Amino acid sequence: MTKVQNLTILGATGTIGVNTLDVVARHPDRFNVVALTAGNQLEKLVAQCRQHQSRYAVVLDADAATRLRDLLAAAGLQTQVLYGMAALEQVASMPEVDTVMAAIVGAAGLRPAMAAARAGKRILLANKETLVMAGSLFMQAVAAGGAELLPIDSEHNAIFQSLPREFDGDLAACGVRRILLTASGGPFRTTPLADLAQVTPEQACAHPNWVMGKKISVDSATMMNKGLEVIEAHWLFNAAPEQIQVVIHPQSVIHSMVDYLDGSVIAQLGNPDMRTPIAYALGFPDRIDSGVSALDLFGRGLTFEAPDYDRFPCLKLAFDALAQGGMLPAVLNAANESAVATFLAGEAGYSDIAASIEYALAHAISGEPGSLDDLVEADAQARRDAEAYLQKRKVG
Ligand code: NAD
Ligand code: MG
Repeated sequence: MTKVQNLTILGATGTIGVNTLDVVARHPDRFNVVALTAGNQLEKLVAQCRQHQSRYAVVLDADAATRLRDLLAAAGLQTQVLYGMAALEQVASMPEVDTVMAAIVGAAGLRPAMAAARAGKRILLANKETLVMAGSLFMQAVAAGGAELLPIDSEHNAIFQSLPREFDGDLAACGVRRILLTASGGPFRTTPLADLAQVTPEQACAHPNWVMGKKISVDSATMMNKGLEVIEAHWLFNAAPEQIQVVIHPQSVIHSMVDYLDGSVIAQLGNPDMRTPIAYALGFPDRIDSGVSALDLFGRGLTFEAPDYDRFPCLKLAFDALAQGGMLPAVLNAANESAVATFLAGEAGYSDIAASIEYALAHAISGEPGSLDDLVEADAQARRDAEAYLQKRKVG
């Protein structure tokens, strides 16, 4: 019999969190929920606490905690309520937890993921920003804490599945030539370039294949998501930038591939449903039911295109930031978060996203981060720079 895994789910109310709980609910003999966390979707969190009998629930601040306590009491639940960053770190590292799903969106997910790494947990990493911002420090923490890292991002999960089980960070030793990172190309793959400046947040969020949170949907439209994933792949698989080839594959059936020296290419295929990578990581090394239907290959064409940097300047900015290293990937990420939020609020144009990131990168201080505090500072500066750029555009 397999041992029951005790879980903390960071970002339980988001797309990844909800999909995780869907898989968990299919295997009551394997998983036990210890802690669930959310930003401010309190009703949803209460329903999840009820269904999964979570011992702890964590929210952003004291005010949300008070409201959550009232809701839980009214529902007759005993869940203990905590709040704030220290509480997120606590539920990510406490001894009774085996596995942490890191599915908070954005830079807010960094500290709890670090806490899980230091505490030697099995980490199911959805929050790619952790690796983009702090790849070096995070991988050091994983090694020092004896943590186990399993990628949730569908591409990285596919690469992980396509690498030999004995892969230990040396691609050459495994005969790997390149990683082929697939991308759908998003909703604007064929939009005339001249029309891109006018696209709206609603159009940007209407992803052709995947249902995702708003921020990552915009990132898919600009292909910054792929840029962040290039950086993520660099850290997860110790791959040099020139070993990572981005391949546009509009059908999203192949989730990524590994190209070996002998000419073999190993791929992982499936329906575009995050429950597949989530179930793979939850069950690892076993395969468990995810609720995803079998892939029907008949009547489908699989096509591939090279990415065009004129259409997707954010992808180029990400490759550049990775090549320059140091604090620049964190700057890229922060400026992007800030610009995407402004775009989603209807206060910046679509083309301003790339332009403001470029501005923030040009004004960033370089150098290696010595600590998380250095990164937090670079992150804040990048947000200010991106905002200043967008403000100037609005006035001008
Ligand atoms: P989402 O916006 O749907 O959910 C985010 C979760 O984080 C919610 O539970 C929200 O309440 C919580 N949250 C937001 N801000 C917070 C804060 N400041 N402090 C604490 N909690 C906060 O996002 P998502 O689509 O589920 O994505 C989550 C992460 O997974 C992201 O890093 C994303 O890049 C990554 N990811 C998502 C997908 C996908 O298909 N959705 C695929 C690959 C990777
Ligand atoms: Mg992905």
